[in-house]
Amino acid sequence: MIAPQSIQEVLNRADILEIVGQFVRLKRRGANHIANCPFHSEKTPSFYVSGSKGIYKCFGCGKGGNVVTFIQEHEKLTYPEAIRWLADFYKIALEETERSPEQAQQQKTEESLRILNEFAAKYFQSFLLEQEEGISIGLSYFKQRGFRKETIEKFLLGFCSEAGDAFYTKATQSGYQTDLMEKAGLVKNRNGSHYDVYRGRVIFPIQNMTGRVLGFGARILKTNERAPKYINTPENELYIKSRVLYGIYQSRQAIGKLDECFLVEGYTDVISLHQGGVENVVASSGTSLTEEQLRAIGQLTKNLTILYDGDAAGIKAALRGLDMALAQSFNVKLVLLPEGEDPDSFIQKSGATKFHEYVKDKKQDVISFRLQVGLKEIGTDPVAKSKLVNELAESISKINKAEDFSLQDYYIRETARKLDVEEAGLINLVNKFIRDRIEQDRRQTSREEKLPEPAITPEITDEPNAENEHEKNYAQEWELIRVLIEHGEKPFEGFENVADLIQQRVDPDLLESAMVKEVYNAYFSFKAQQGTFPPIGYFTNFPNKAVTEQMATLLHTRNEISHNWSKMYGIETLSGDLNFINEAESALTYFEVKSIVQMQALLTERLRNERDEAKITLLQRKMLELKQAEAEIVRKHGTVILKMMRKG
Ligand code: ZN
Repeated sequence: MIAPQSIQEVLNRADILEIVGQFVRLKRRGANHIANCPFHSEKTPSFYVSGSKGIYKCFGCGKGGNVVTFIQEHEKLTYPEAIRWLADFYKIALEETERSPEQAQQQKTEESLRILNEFAAKYFQSFLLEQEEGISIGLSYFKQRGFRKETIEKFLLGFCSEAGDAFYTKATQSGYQTDLMEKAGLVKNRNGSHYDVYRGRVIFPIQNMTGRVLGFGARILKTNERAPKYINTPENELYIKSRVLYGIYQSRQAIGKLDECFLVEGYTDVISLHQGGVENVVASSGTSLTEEQLRAIGQLTKNLTILYDGDAAGIKAALRGLDMALAQSFNVKLVLLPEGEDPDSFIQKSGATKFHEYVKDKKQDVISFRLQVGLKEIGTDPVAKSKLVNELAESISKINKAEDFSLQDYYIRETARKLDVEEAGLINLVNKFIRDRIEQDRRQTSREEKLPEPAITPEITDEPNAENEHEKNYAQEWELIRVLIEHGEKPFEGFENVADLIQQRVDPDLLESAMVKEVYNAYFSFKAQQGTFPPIGYFTNFPNKAVTEQMATLLHTRNEISHNWSKMYGIETLSGDLNFINEAESALTYFEVKSIVQMQALLTERLRNERDEAKITLLQRKMLELKQAEAEIVRKHGTVILKMMRKG
């Protein structure tokens, strides 16, 4: 984690005009600067930046925020990633907190590999563009593939000399350690002397979402050698194959803007499509899609279109990732390219317009695609047919979440007709898969619910909701809601405000009252959607009448509970306006303790059933940590609170 003082340093330093100016051309207008919005297409500027206030706002698409949200939105990054991006930009060294020695070591290695990789990428690129050998062999290969210079530069393509140790010598002279070069997969040791692994190959650097070079793909140019066509970076601290998506850096903005991601197989497919004007494309590099890759794409879009050439290997690889994509609510389409074409050859022949027409015309959903491929495969084999029926029924059962029911109906009819099976039977099968999944979910939930119930009702005599039979046990949960509604927007040290504090510190799963959960969720979704705090009236006029009533009681009996609660575990009462700090803290302490008690019960249960020595040690260590956390709270607030939680 990045230390708060480092975040503050970045925030103090970051100048919104300078940062936004990296991406759009700003013109001064009065106190503000304006530009064409980078987040939607427009001809006349409606994107305003205020340097003095440190904010931007687009009156066209509504996007707005501060310098960090701008980088998050524009570069498609999470908050910490955006902070790191800004720190890189201003050359601010970030301090990290809460790192174990192992984490620190891992990060150090990652960082060293990254620096070495960036050095190597630059070296290979300049070798390709400036050295005679690079130009005559590497560059002429890329030219022959039809790549233009700006494309070659955009993808940092390079060439490694055939000399054998040219890179090794250069990197050593520049102070890089041999063992790091070996770890990075750039050099190898043979009988005590080192040679370049990629010698005589063209180089495709592989970058992550933020442009960092994670590793390389290197393609052989000579055809008469028995060496593999491509060599890739071995798995190391930085290069983790299951997370790599080739082209994500160059494509991330187009994917976001067009709200669609094309998936292809190879590096050259991605590069050719870019050069042809299709810039929303990544490659999975031959493997079937992994969950991590899907998550990365899912940050940008939920519309995934897989382009595959007709050879069977490609189709099989495509099919393997699909159920996972469906389960992650992706809207997956497939496009089978014309016989004998891959995306690279197809775009070069047809150009972008024809390419888009073809894709639009041939786009198939997963079920139709499977049906088509499956029908070809099964022939007259009844066993293969029944297997296919089962597989399709399972896939159809998954659609109900991602798309809609009429579509599910449609697929059932289509599948039944094309496979010549009874519709009613197929419906039963689909329903069975749905039921199985629900049952599985239910078992999962009930496992979680079987935790020994902590007593959550402190003895508070003047508890205000006593007359409400259904909600009477949830006094502390309602107290949290009251603090949230009454004090949500007040500043709180270390957080943006009280609402932020509550959102970060209270796991909503700890809320047991369905009504409380409803209000809690409504509060934060209002805040997320409107960008402002919901007014009290929003809850006193809530559609759910029971909530409205509860709210009226709650807001009229202010402070009753928290005063009692505070008394019991000895939080001093602050006077006047600052009392909300106590109230927020006491409401949170309840949930903190509750979570510890639940975890302890869970661990005790697991310890009772565990036979594996190593796991027992691990669980005991975890238990010790919880005991320490508990001790900390007791030290702060006395034992009464724990006794209360354990009662019953
Ligand atoms: Zn806009």
